[in-house]
Amino acid sequence: MTTLLLGCIADDFTGATDLANNLVRAGMRVAQTIGVPTVPLQADVDAVVVALKSRTIAPADAVAQSLAALRWLQAQGAQQIYFKVCSTFDSTSQGNIGPVTDALMDALGCSFVAVTPAFPDNQRAVFKGHLFVGDLLLSDSGMRNHPLTPMTDANLVRVLQAQTQRKVGLVEHGVVARGAAAIADRMAQLQREGVGMAIVDAIRNDDLVQLGQALKGQALVTAGSGVAIGLPTNWGLVPSPAAAVLPPAGGLQAIVSGSCSVATNGQVAHARAAGVPVFEVDPLQVAAGADVAAQALAWARGRFQSGLPRGPVLITATADTTQLQAVQAQLGVARAGELVEHTLAAIGRGLVQLGVRQLVVAGGETSGAVVQALGISQLQIGAQIDPGVPWCAALSPAADAQVLHITLKSGNFGSADFFTKAFATLA
Ligand code: ADP
Repeated sequence: MTTLLLGCIADDFTGATDLANNLVRAGMRVAQTIGVPTVPLQADVDAVVVALKSRTIAPADAVAQSLAALRWLQAQGAQQIYFKVCSTFDSTSQGNIGPVTDALMDALGCSFVAVTPAFPDNQRAVFKGHLFVGDLLLSDSGMRNHPLTPMTDANLVRVLQAQTQRKVGLVEHGVVARGAAAIADRMAQLQREGVGMAIVDAIRNDDLVQLGQALKGQALVTAGSGVAIGLPTNWGLVPSPAAAVLPPAGGLQAIVSGSCSVATNGQVAHARAAGVPVFEVDPLQVAAGADVAAQALAWARGRFQSGLPRGPVLITATADTTQLQAVQAQLGVARAGELVEHTLAAIGRGLVQLGVRQLVVAGGETSGAVVQALGISQLQIGAQIDPGVPWCAALSPAADAQVLHITLKSGNFGSADFFTKAFATLA
C-alpha cells in the first residue's frame, strides 16, 4: 500500500505532465492520472497529479471537478494538496484560479494559501506581485492576445482579487530573499490581518526552494510547476535517478505520429533517413472508406514477423503545410483531424495488441486519442527523453496485464532524432 505525500490537481494535461516531470526531477516517484480515477492508485508513488481540463470551462464545473479530484486524492492519503495553474496565470475575471482555490480551501478547512506561478529558470518571475514572461510584463507579452484568456494586467494581486471574495495579499521579494523562516512569518502575519490568499514573489529559483520549505505543513498551495522544486525536501526526499525508475521495458517498438508541427515533420524525416520502416496514413483514403487502420496493422505485423533487426516501425499521418492544407481544403479542418485521430487511435491499440510494449506518440490531440483508445487512466512518470517529454509506464487492457511504456510528445517538443533516441534511453 502506498503512502501518498503530495496530491496535485492540474487544470490541463500538459501542465500536469510538466508538474509531474518537475517532481520526479526533484526526487519524488510520481503518477499522473487522466481525469479523476475511478479506481485506487496502481503504482507505489510519492505524488499523484490528477490531470483535468478545467482551465477555461465554467467556474462551477471547474470547482466540481477539482473537488472530485480532491476527494480521490484524500482517499489515497494525500498529506498536502497542490493546485497547478498555468505559468502565465491564464484565467478570466470569472476564474478559474480564484474559484477553485476558494473551493479547495473551504473543503480543506484552510484559511490561508500561497499563490505563485513563478519559475525563474523557465522565464517566469514575479516581482512586487507583477508577472514577467522573460523580459516582458505579462501584459506586454503575447498572452495579451490569447484567444480564450487574454492577460492584460500583470499585477497578479489585482488579477486574483477579481476572482475571489477573500482578501488577496503579497509576500514581497524583500521577505522572500530572507529565506524560509521569514516567508513563514510573513504568511502568518498576513493571515492574522485577514488575508486569505497571497501572491508570492520569486525572481530566482532559490526563492522557490525557500518558499517550498516555508510551505511545509500547509494544507494547500496554488502554483505553476515551479514550486514543485522546493517541496520534496519537506519529506526528506532529494533529487535521485531512483525516482524515475520504471519497470523494465520489453516487447516490440512503434511510433505513431499525428502531429504536423515543424519539429515532428523533422523527426519523421530523420527517422526515415535512419532506416526506420514507415507506413503513411493518407486521410483521403480514410475519407473514401478504406480500412487504413487494418492496412497499417497488416503492414506492421509483416514487419514484426520478417525477422529484421529489432527496431521501431513508424506509422504517420504527419504532413507538411502544403499537403495538410490540400487535405483540409477537401475534407474540412475538423473532419480531417477527426478521421486521422480516429485512425491513429485504432492503430495505436492494434499495435499494442500485436505486442508493442514501447510506444512513442507524437501530437497532443493524437496522444489524447491514443491514450483513450488504449483505456489508459494512470501513467507512472519516468526519466525525461527531452525537456518536458518523459517515458511513462501504464497499464492498458490491450497490453494483456503487461506494462506498456509510452511517451506522449506534444508536436513541437523534442530534438530531431527524438524517435530513435527515445528507444535508446529505454534499453
Ligand atoms: P500538435 O501537438 O502538433 O498540435 P496534434 O495531434 O495536437 O499535434 O494535432 C494535429 C492534428 O492534425 C490532429 O487532429 C491530427 O489528426 C491532424 N492531422 C494529422 N495529420 C493530418 C493530415 N495529414 N491531414 C489532416 N489532418 C491531419
